[in-house]
Amino acid sequence: MAALDIVRIPVLSDNYVWLVHDPESSTTMVVDPAVADPVLAAAAERGWTITDIWNTHWHPDHTGGNAAIKEAAKEWGGCTITGPAAEYARIPTLDVQVKGGDRVRLGNHVADVWDVPAHTAGHIAYHFAEDAAIFVGDTMFAMGCGRLFEGTAEQMFANMQKLGTLDDATRVYCAHEYTLSNARFAVTVEPDNEALAARLAAVEAARAAGEATVPTSIGEERATNPFLRAPDAAELGRIRALKDAA
Ligand code: ZN
Ligand code: FE
Repeated sequence: MAALDIVRIPVLSDNYVWLVHDPESSTTMVVDPAVADPVLAAAAERGWTITDIWNTHWHPDHTGGNAAIKEAAKEWGGCTITGPAAEYARIPTLDVQVKGGDRVRLGNHVADVWDVPAHTAGHIAYHFAEDAAIFVGDTMFAMGCGRLFEGTAEQMFANMQKLGTLDDATRVYCAHEYTLSNARFAVTVEPDNEALAARLAAVEAARAAGEATVPTSIGEERATNPFLRAPDAAELGRIRALKDAA
């Protein structure tokens, strides 16, 4: 099985849209298109045609490009939009509704759908186990986690625990460049964590040079993410509230 080709497209102020191409089947999928034009351009530049859109949750900065990409895709046979069944009413462009335990395919690459409610009530993630990659939307960020808009600290704690079962090498594709802000907060939670201090310095240098800092990996997060490292839901809730107020 040929490796997936995964392209990061920065859009809006801090969103990342992920373009995922399977060379064997010539299928190309977009995770969470906030907007359409830069995504269509990135695909066209590579000679790819978008066949699928996968949404992680209903927020407009993850679904705003759905309709326009679908319209453009009529030119090459259309594209299928897959997303969370629990948020169907809020994503009117959905063609296929999925939930935790379902499997979705991109060519021969299979992704397991995970239910990861908390940021939104129906938030899902897509885990390509054989590719060691997971698309988490706004559930986990580098050294951070999503805000608890429609769920609880208990739910987010469960999500972090489940992500923590993955191998260190698993790449985590999140939807925002929040890394520097998260790192600066994380060092206040874990002032004695040397791996975290080193990562903050590396991230400061990368951002100063205009470089992106994601994807991250489960191994890096296991060492430096205070939300993944929180011992219980109460502690996760406590630091999430502190970060919200920061
Ligand atoms: Zn969101
Ligand atoms: Fe978002």
